[in-house]
Amino acid sequence: MTPRVAVVGGGVAGAAVAYALRESPVEVTLFERAGRVGGRTATRRRGETVYDYGANYVTDDDERVADLLAEEFSNGLVDTEGPVWTFDADGEIGEGRGNGRKWTYEGGVETLAGRLVDRSDATVETDAEVIELRRRDEAWTVETADERTFEPFDGVVLTPPAPQTGDLLAAAGWSHERANALVEALRDVPYRTIWSLALHYPDELDRPYYALVNTDRDHEIGWLSREECKPGHVPDGESLLIVQMAPDWSAERYDADGAAVIEEALPIVADLLDDDRLADPEWTDHQRWGLALPDDGVDAELLDAVAEDGLWFAGDWVAGEGRSHAAIRTGLDAGDRIRERFE
Ligand SMILES: Cc1cc2nc3c(=O)[nH]c(=O)nc-3n(C[C@H](O)[C@H](O)[C@H](O)COP(=O)(O)OP(=O)(O)OC[C@H]3O[C@@H](n4cnc5c(N)ncnc54)[C@H](O)[C@@H]3O)c2cc1C
Repeated sequence: MTPRVAVVGGGVAGAAVAYALRESPVEVTLFERAGRVGGRTATRRRGETVYDYGANYVTDDDERVADLLAEEFSNGLVDTEGPVWTFDADGEIGEGRGNGRKWTYEGGVETLAGRLVDRSDATVETDAEVIELRRRDEAWTVETADERTFEPFDGVVLTPPAPQTGDLLAAAGWSHERANALVEALRDVPYRTIWSLALHYPDELDRPYYALVNTDRDHEIGWLSREECKPGHVPDGESLLIVQMAPDWSAERYDADGAAVIEEALPIVADLLDDDRLADPEWTDHQRWGLALPDDGVDAELLDAVAEDGLWFAGDWVAGEGRSHAAIRTGLDAGDRIRERFE
């Protein structure tokens, strides 16, 4: 019988699992809660403006992922122009950090997950939140929020953020000697919250950098970047700032209204860039990322121990760092291991 694997989550990690299992003997069904794949690699459009409001870009820090993008997924791939500079708690700006590739797509960074699943052979179920996993007779059953049941699966790859993965497993009625330790470790992975703001202006903003990052982590703003440095994203003569508020600041305003968050943030932005015009954008947008970035991971030995029950994991938290290239890598690696198991 054809082995069947369910992938829960269609961020870049889940999409990479599906891609890695293309042309394999394994039949893959990918379940994504949202109406789109991409997860935290997320892009919106307004008129002719394209902006990445989650991950800003994918770096070339992982060789396998870099080769994949440059060779297989290079259509529309663009390198963000300009360096990343730094600022401190007092708003003092300084020349900064390394200048490796900062890839996105003309159509935005979320293009990549779509391409990965398009190139896979997976059946993709969007608007399909997995609310229950069950282990019965050495097979897995998947139940979605719209009361559909999918079964049987020989394996499941879990890619939601660690605490959500922990909750799914805790309710799965699955017994394994390491199950409790795993659920506890998953739920314990700490995450940063980030309010991400998009501020559009009808004029050009002339600066020598693409972005500013707060290095002492003691400013209200954690990151600020100029979307117009990404080819194809912002019409000439206009500008769009992506502002990521600091994790503590964001967590304190977790339940705040987006408009109120923007109102509070605008003078801070204008002050940091020393330009009063920036307190009055033409239009704005916002997104609260509750589980924005994991600050730790889960012991790989614990994750590997449950592969015997057909459970695999992928995602930035598996790598222990909130970076999209790392998430993609864990997806490719999980796909390789599953292929080995069933080939
Ligand atoms: C504001 C912000 C800025 C960032 N900046 C950068 C950057 O510049 N560079 C960089 O490399 N990285 C950056 N990152 C990190 C990067 O976005 C992530 O590391 C990466 O996208 C994680 O991918 P993933 O597939 O592991 O997880 P996710 O993208 O979170 O994907 C998980 C998916 O699972 C789905 N899901 C969850 N639960 C269920 C369920 N029960 N059923 C079905 N589907 C479910 C979710 O909807 C989601 O689509 C940033 C992140 C944020 C939030």
